Amino acid sequence: MEAKKGVNRKRRTPQNGESQTEKKRKHKEVDGKSKSSSSFLDKMRARLSGGHFRMINEKLYTCTGSEALSYFEEDPALFNVYHAGYQEQMSHWPQQPVNIIIKWLKDHSPSLIVADFGCGDGRLARNVKNKVFSFDLVSSDPSVIVCDMSNTPLEPSSIDVAVFCLSLMGTNFSNYLQEAHRVLKPCGWLLIAEVKSRFDPSTGGAEPNRFSKAICKLGFTLESKDFSNKMFILLYFKKKEKQNSKVKEIDWPELKPCLYKRR
Ligand code: SAH
Repeated sequence: MEAKKGVNRKRRTPQNGESQTEKKRKHKEVDGKSKSSSSFLDKMRARLSGGHFRMINEKLYTCTGSEALSYFEEDPALFNVYHAGYQEQMSHWPQQPVNIIIKWLKDHSPSLIVADFGCGDGRLARNVKNKVFSFDLVSSDPSVIVCDMSNTPLEPSSIDVAVFCLSLMGTNFSNYLQEAHRVLKPCGWLLIAEVKSRFDPSTGGAEPNRFSKAICKLGFTLESKDFSNKMFILLYFKKKEKQNSKVKEIDWPELKPCLYKRR
């Protein structure tokens, strides 16, 4: 009896009288609980930031470029929330349109000067040899020029390729295209990648031909189009060599916002 008592005394801790095994088991439970509660918190955080992303995204599709610029000027941190959500959405797309544009540039001369309108984190500039002017509402990288892209600091007729990759967000998107026309050299390229659902007339989207015609009226010719991708369309225009002296009234279609679903 004495010996047994001695053994038990050894196993128990002086403070609470618990055996080491009991203690270990309890630790495991506590660890298990804290793990599941932290994963619950992670889920809640993800849900909140997902909701925040969708709110900012909707804002950007329903205001003008200058309103969007003021919105981010007031709180630049919103830009990071937006881009974290944007990247999350993009990770579910089988192909990223920016990669197709990067490939297009790699298949052309690296001497072409590029303007990336709505560049996001500047991925395009990082992946090509060309000189790229990257524009966005907030600068996440020193190479990004902050501006509303309806009004860039570029000289007229100074650019060979103007890129809009999922960036025709503002309600005044036609001003962005006018700005691209201003800065492009004659015969310069205008490359547009946009969310496919915005061009699906059966769900309230714009008629793609009407959109292309409006751009042509601005002073471009449609060189090619690619609707083969499930998530986005690609349009390749060239600026006309000679401009019509009088641009008639252009009938721009409305482009509906691209609202991402909760996942
Ligand atoms: N082109 C990038 C990012 C697309 S997200 C890519 O394909 O990865 C769209 C970007 O356009 C956002 O970063 C948004 O801030 C920018 N944008 C929208 N309206 C803008 C405006 N008026 N002026 C400048 N950037 C704008």
